[in-house]
Amino acid sequence: MDAEVQKTDQEWREQLTPEQYDVLRRKSTERPFTGEYVHTKEDGTYRCAGCGAELFSSSTKFDSGTGWPSFTEPAVAENVALRPDNSLFMRRTEVVCRRCGGHLGHVFDDGPGPTGQRYCINSCALDLKGSGGPS
Ligand code: FE
Repeated sequence: MDAEVQKTDQEWREQLTPEQYDVLRRKSTERPFTGEYVHTKEDGTYRCAGCGAELFSSSTKFDSGTGWPSFTEPAVAENVALRPDNSLFMRRTEVVCRRCGGHLGHVFDDGPGPTGQRYCINSCALDLKGSGGPS
């Protein structure tokens, strides 16, 4: 997959917080119930913390009880890429930002919506904009 946004490892390190770097560029997973958007119910668009691509809408967010922000579907399907991930002795599907190649989380097929999907996404890989809160 050739990402539209290409940066060197050093550039990513300078742009991102250490936690964001570990998740987006090293496929790390933030500890459950620690991310800033786990319980967020504000309206708005969740963008990629790495490149700003529009990824998820608050209208598809639900409380999965897992400790990570969970969505039933991407806001813009073309902005998200799915890849098989067989690491850690599990068969999972990795969710990646197509624009910058950043790791976002995983998608599982036990979701509540009509699609039956649960996009389990790291808070620190997301940036909630347009919340209508104080500017
Ligand atoms: Fe991105």
